Amino acid sequence: MYDKPNPSRLVAAAAQTSSARKDWRTRLVQSDCVVPKGFTSLTPAIQRGSTVVFESLSDALASKPPGDGYVYGTSGTPTTLELGARIAELEGARKCFVVPCGQAAIALTYLAYCGSGSHVLVPESVYRPSRKLGDDLLAGLGIEMELYDPLIGSGIANLFRQNTSLIWCESPGSITMEIQDVPAIAMAARAAGIKVALDNTYAAGLFFDAFSSGVEVSVQALTKYVGGHSDVLLGTVSVGSSAAAERIAQVHDRLGMAASPDDCALALRGLQTLAIRLAHLEHASMTVATWLKQQSDVAAVLHPAFPDCPGHKIWQRDYTGSSSVFSVVFGETWTVERIARFVDALRLFKIGFGWGGTTSLVMAYPQMKRRNRNDCHRLVRLNVGLEAVEDLIEDLGQAIKTSLSR
Ligand SMILES: *Cc1c(COP(=O)(O)O)cnc(C)c1O
Repeated sequence: MYDKPNPSRLVAAAAQTSSARKDWRTRLVQSDCVVPKGFTSLTPAIQRGSTVVFESLSDALASKPPGDGYVYGTSGTPTTLELGARIAELEGARKCFVVPCGQAAIALTYLAYCGSGSHVLVPESVYRPSRKLGDDLLAGLGIEMELYDPLIGSGIANLFRQNTSLIWCESPGSITMEIQDVPAIAMAARAAGIKVALDNTYAAGLFFDAFSSGVEVSVQALTKYVGGHSDVLLGTVSVGSSAAAERIAQVHDRLGMAASPDDCALALRGLQTLAIRLAHLEHASMTVATWLKQQSDVAAVLHPAFPDCPGHKIWQRDYTGSSSVFSVVFGETWTVERIARFVDALRLFKIGFGWGGTTSLVMAYPQMKRRNRNDCHRLVRLNVGLEAVEDLIEDLGQAIKTSLSR
């Protein structure tokens, strides 16, 4: 089908390319087709692209700050920038950067605020992969991570050092659900000129106002509530000031942390139903938690809206809602083996890491250690999904019974 390479014919063909009918191989790549303009739909356009085309060389060479305008796909396409702008609007942020997942958002924040010789304060209940980042990769770069009691509040000031460059908050904490006094921590930090970053994933960036609480950077795993269907990984880094935006933009650019426009379109779709999903999940998870609290096998329900939850009073003060993930501590007679039998006996609650989707999930952490708790081996984390609440309660009830006998 392809012509044998014959130089004189190739030159003859080249002479014709300016005429109306180009070779079909050229038309495959560069078409003159025009589609009708004026399509307006309710859904965002998915615009993919690595190379961005310019009108002139001088346009191409005119330097633009990273993160603004269109230069190359890594600095954003209309789809990724639309998602960033939508999240910034919801969180009351100056700017929001979209990255490939929540863990990438955490890593980006670290690298924007810490360098060799930095000291970072991180709550003991932090998302585990964030802690691992400090244990090896950041340690190797000369960045020291110190764990603190998540309930420390303004007492955090006692831990400040000359070289403390960042304080992380995560509220509620992963698995043990401590609600942090973020405003008190941020106030102490501000007095010492230290920046605070918050992992605001639990609140979907909506139930807790990070920026009016004095936070410099607010990150979210959109993977959880915004995505909402366990089919996409995305993260965001939102900032309240233009200085912070410049800092993050530079590191975002250097690391090449570009997100896929297809994934961003899924997150934009997720936003359409986020309010109704969160409203249902709040109600459903409180119903399940209330039932659990009444069971004689349950010692404590670590749900922010329940008094058992460490920091519950701060949740009442600072949050406008609760969401779908919480933990249950079973009674003192429950062994690690019984917890495993309980988890394995559940039918509707699937065993898996993550939360915020439509499916109910369960996970246990027999090896987990926390300085302030000696009951972690009896703790189970639940994520309530969109199944009928009565069925979920029945599932938990049968699993408690089944777990009794081997
Ligand atoms: C899941 C999670 C993350 C990480 O999000 P990924 O998109 O899965 O990388 C970060 N923080 C918290 C609190 C999370 O639960």
